[in-house]
Amino acid sequence: MRTVQLYKSKMNGFCNGVKRAVDMTADAAARYGRVFCLGELVHNKRVTDYLKGIGVEFVDTVQAAAGGVLVIRAHGAAKRVYDECEQKGITVVDATCPSITRMHAIVERKYKDGYRIVIVGESRHPEVIGINGWCDDKAIIWNGEDKLDLIECEKVFLLYQTTLTYEKSLAAAKNIVKEYAKTLEVFDSICYTTKSRQECVKTIVNSCGHVIIVGDGSSTNTRRLYDIAVESGCSAELIEDARMLSDAFLRFDNVALLSGASTPVEVCDEVEAEMVRIARDRRVSIRVVCKA
Ligand code: SF4
Repeated sequence: MRTVQLYKSKMNGFCNGVKRAVDMTADAAARYGRVFCLGELVHNKRVTDYLKGIGVEFVDTVQAAAGGVLVIRAHGAAKRVYDECEQKGITVVDATCPSITRMHAIVERKYKDGYRIVIVGESRHPEVIGINGWCDDKAIIWNGEDKLDLIECEKVFLLYQTTLTYEKSLAAAKNIVKEYAKTLEVFDSICYTTKSRQECVKTIVNSCGHVIIVGDGSSTNTRRLYDIAVESGCSAELIEDARMLSDAFLRFDNVALLSGASTPVEVCDEVEAEMVRIARDRRVSIRVVCKA
């Protein structure tokens, strides 16, 4: 009987920040009965449906939660959101990831100290919008690829969206023209989880012919894992859950199963169980190897 080696990462499932946010939201729903959440808590439909089922309502404005309980998601929010909550008598459950809360505090302090804040990231990403809201929305939001000319900036403080790739952050630093900036401070804000998962894909593609990434395509960090696998020339597929799994993986002797930071570990387990079922039907056995 033929055997397929299945490499799965021990990091699969939620990152600490997302797990904390989901747990805090579920606790708040149990305590208050009805709670609002500003924007989608995680990029995962199953988690969103579960939260809706226990009394969580997803809203786009602070006003919609007036007089109630509002969860700030792991991405965090601008300072004005907290101010508005106070004005409207809203109880805040702050599920901002501690790594991002730390960035808010640093940005606020540096801005007060006269630094021009530069955020390398996606201008429409909620995390970036939130960070910018701690320096009066005066940050330069930069893609890190075009040359950035820091004319008339005496002091510059540069940081990265937590899910940016490490290589992109290094390239960004090289693209800065700092003739006029006397001080340039760079804060390595890329999250440890993001770095580890990206490193894991890079390592695993050397020993695997095919990589299955489990997660929602609208999640930046999940998409990035898929892109890294494809860019390295590896066959890869991005699936939301077990229902999307095909038998394509059976063409390879070594297959990897990885997940984005907003994918529940149960969804990965279901994909693994489905792989075993498909393989068994074709008289192929699966040998699971766990990777750090
Ligand atoms: S990816 Fe990192 S920064 Fe973002 S929520 Fe998870 S632990 Fe926090």
